[in-house]
Amino acid sequence: MTTTTVGKRVQDFLSTPQQLFINNDYVPAKSGKTFTTLNPATGEVLATVAEGDAEDIDIAVQAARKAFSDGPWATMSPSDRGRIMWKIGDLISEHLEEFAELETLDNGKPLSVALAADVPLAAELFRYMAGWATKIEGNTIGLSVPFLPDAQFHAYTLREPIGVVGQIIPWNFPLLMAAWKLGPALATGNTVVLKPAEQTPLAALFLAEIMAQAGLPPGVVNVVNGLGETAGAALASHPGVDKIAFTGSTEVGRLIAKGATGNLKKVSLELGGKSPNIVFADADIDAAVAGSAQAIFFNQGQCCVAGSRLYVEDDIFDEVVAGVAEIAKSMKIGDGLDSRTDLGPLVSDEQLRRVSGFVDSGREQGAEIVTGGHRDGDRGYFFQPTVISHTRPDMKVVEEEIFGPVVVVAAFKDLADAARLANDSPYGLGSGIWTKDISKAHKLAKQIRAGTVYVNCYNVFDAAMPFGGYKESGWGREMGHQALDSYTEVKSVCVRL
Ligand code: NDP
Repeated sequence: MTTTTVGKRVQDFLSTPQQLFINNDYVPAKSGKTFTTLNPATGEVLATVAEGDAEDIDIAVQAARKAFSDGPWATMSPSDRGRIMWKIGDLISEHLEEFAELETLDNGKPLSVALAADVPLAAELFRYMAGWATKIEGNTIGLSVPFLPDAQFHAYTLREPIGVVGQIIPWNFPLLMAAWKLGPALATGNTVVLKPAEQTPLAALFLAEIMAQAGLPPGVVNVVNGLGETAGAALASHPGVDKIAFTGSTEVGRLIAKGATGNLKKVSLELGGKSPNIVFADADIDAAVAGSAQAIFFNQGQCCVAGSRLYVEDDIFDEVVAGVAEIAKSMKIGDGLDSRTDLGPLVSDEQLRRVSGFVDSGREQGAEIVTGGHRDGDRGYFFQPTVISHTRPDMKVVEEEIFGPVVVVAAFKDLADAARLANDSPYGLGSGIWTKDISKAHKLAKQIRAGTVYVNCYNVFDAAMPFGGYKESGWGREMGHQALDSYTEVKSVCVRL
């Protein structure tokens, strides 16, 4: 038996029409509208979900405001808040299989990946952030006010929650992106309205139930599924929302920033990337080849930090490209529930067409498809792992985020050349360096303008390690204690003694 049979709990969840989650209650959308979410491995309907819009967002924002101002959340001790968050982490771990099955069915990713990465990382994020709930501290400050030379002061800072936070997340890691957003918001005492992506609405609803079970009071986290242009835009521009946090495309990130200008709400953005992955001739070649394949093909390439521009030092170019292409050819493409599957489907028909379109543009502009380059089969949204060579820097496939299992390769001469190529992009999210020369690695790590530099590894994520982008890859950081900064206001209290 190689294909996992979905458990009864998930089957029941899928066969129940899913609603919005407001005030710890499941409620229909005010309009009565629903939409369906599809299984990308088959294209068949997986579940029906309530479709919220501006009216539902408004109700959810009011619930979050009430919970922020007068609910038990507002007066709860940091320790009790941390305890609830830890419990959420533990409950996610207890429901590991159910969450993983939902992620595979809704997003398409291999079950083995959801079991090993998405779900444990989400649980760990809540536990890591639970620890911070009791460690949100200000400073005492010695003042030297020149126009009051004889006065004495006691000055200090308080770090306070920002208030009601709107969070809009994408479909590539539905549960994990919810965790990245909710963890720091809750640890610092904010309340939340979360809008998941329309392609993957299920994990956040399943999580909502678990959060209520863990003791999260009503209104602290509200989940409103719906479309970006309606529910998402309403959240970004809502005057009752104090901060908006977004993960997704740079294009929509710009809309979010614009939508936030009405009440000048705080904004944090985790956006796209076109991350360079650089292999030097002195690297452990086997590790670099395997690592470079994983850097791009992990999660079907639908990873904001994917190593999608592979740069290889001249001397070993052919060997590394052949090695990555060999791995691409050997990957088993299939339904994520099949334990033999290395590469699942893309998330949607739209994403399949988008990725195919990019590869076609590369062909038309004269690039060479070393391997892959086509849809796989005619059922579901599968795309072959693809290596593209003989590119020019001005080609779309080199410049733009493809968000599929497609890597472009090019050669470089030396460290300076590698640094120039790495930084030749408006993005600055991730990067990779493969070398045995530690001095070279550190020198280049300093020169690359990106939020993460992986050395002799790739796609390593940890709740304690900050993540985010330089340049057009975003504003602010997720994870690590840095994430807490964008969920707190600093208040200076100045007391004349
Ligand atoms: P989007 O940026 O459109 O979607 C991300 C989230 O934003 C979703 O919840 C979406 O809602 C919402 N959204 C869309 N439009 C608006 C809007 N006007 N106002 C407020 N919220 C909005 O990504 P796509 O799904 O369209 O993917 C397109 C490309 O974006 C990908 O090919 C990839 O290049 C990039 N991307 C990058 C991600 C990253 O992690 N950096 C993640 C996902 C995509 P809904 O989906 O419900 O319409």
